[in-house]
Amino acid sequence: MSVRAFDVAIVGAGPAGSALALRLARAGARVALIERQRERAFRVGETLPPAIAPRLQRLGVWDRFIDMRPRASDHMLSSWGAAELQSQSFIAHPHQHGWQIDRARFDAMLAQAAVDAGAVLHAGCRVRGLDGDGAAGWRLQIEGSEAALHARWLVDASGRSARMAARLGSERIRIDDLIGVALLFAGGDEGGAPRGPMIEAVRDGWWYAARLPGGEELAVFMTDADLLQGGGDPTDFALGRLAAAPHTKRRVQDLRPPSRASVWPAASQRLACAAGAGWLAVGDAALGRDPLSSSGIDFALASAELACATLVAAQSGDEAAIARYAAAIARDFDAYRALRAQFYALERRWPDAPFWARRVSGAQRGSEVDAGFEPAAQIG
Ligand SMILES: Cc1cc2nc3c(=O)[nH]c(=O)nc-3n(C[C@H](O)[C@H](O)[C@H](O)COP(=O)(O)OP(=O)(O)OC[C@H]3O[C@@H](n4cnc5c(N)ncnc54)[C@H](O)[C@@H]3O)c2cc1C
Repeated sequence: MSVRAFDVAIVGAGPAGSALALRLARAGARVALIERQRERAFRVGETLPPAIAPRLQRLGVWDRFIDMRPRASDHMLSSWGAAELQSQSFIAHPHQHGWQIDRARFDAMLAQAAVDAGAVLHAGCRVRGLDGDGAAGWRLQIEGSEAALHARWLVDASGRSARMAARLGSERIRIDDLIGVALLFAGGDEGGAPRGPMIEAVRDGWWYAARLPGGEELAVFMTDADLLQGGGDPTDFALGRLAAAPHTKRRVQDLRPPSRASVWPAASQRLACAAGAGWLAVGDAALGRDPLSSSGIDFALASAELACATLVAAQSGDEAAIARYAAAIARDFDAYRALRAQFYALERRWPDAPFWARRVSGAQRGSEVDAGFEPAAQIG
């Protein structure tokens, strides 16, 4: 079997993995980017805050981003803590616009930018076997390929499942069981008046709605997994819950409802340790945020920036760089967790409802460890 040599193998070509591959390739590293999807399918995670602009500019992909024709929004709407809808303008923000994107296209754009910079993309591939350690580097066997990869550094960019980190023994610490049940309504206008994204709190959770660049309206019901489990079919469950969300219902009432909902894990979580000898995790794999923050992609790009500097420093002999990275992620989670608690505490209309009681009283999962998701002999 032939073995191809790389400096860094990155598992997962979402925003975090592709941004890191792009930065490392530009810095002259030989980078393998391994992505299990061959074609990018629809996915949620489409709202970008104004602060994303400098992040994309620093990454050198701003022109590609604008070429995707993202939908600009100059405000956001919320019914949170009160039944009335309030509008918050971005006008005072230095970058003035948030954005709604076609998420599959955005992810493909970043992966292509990494390839153009010299990274080697293995699309439609999973890692089947992993041997090695931090000292000698890693040997990865790719499903469906005779060739194996050897890399000095391994990066877990596989998203919330954090598959490689789990394989290396780092456990996920989850503080809730949030999920999103997504409904994609068709028939909206492609251009039309700017329509800001919206959040609406309800008794069992909260909704968010966003108008996508193609004109579809995405409405996602965020709730806890156990509250969905009692509710039967997810599509009927979510469509039924719309009745209790008058603002969200109004946005979709003239559109064509979907025949099927999709369900997305959205727990707030972090790895017990986000880096170790010869490896580190970026993006959701390191730290998964509540979509309420609309900052998952921003964090994915930020962690890629920090991870690139960390790997360059470690490669040059800075032995403390990896430990500093892990500590920075842990600190970031503490700060995020405090902000999240403040935001949920603003909603006091349903103190007895389980969804809010768990968050507002702090009666959450605490620091429960969840590590039982990795098939013993196979990664991916
Ligand atoms: C309901 C919901 C709504 C959200 N809304 C927003 C929002 O509006 N704005 C925002 O900024 N964020 C939002 N997020 C969060 C955002 O989607 C994530 O933070 C972001 O996708 C993280 O990027 P990532 O690259 O770390 O992980 P991902 O985007 O999850 O990418 C991981 C990649 O790894 C691949 N992969 C996984 N396992 C393997 C494997 N074994 N081998 C090879 N490849 C693998 C996957 O196919 C995927 O391409 C939302 C999340 C949810 C659940």
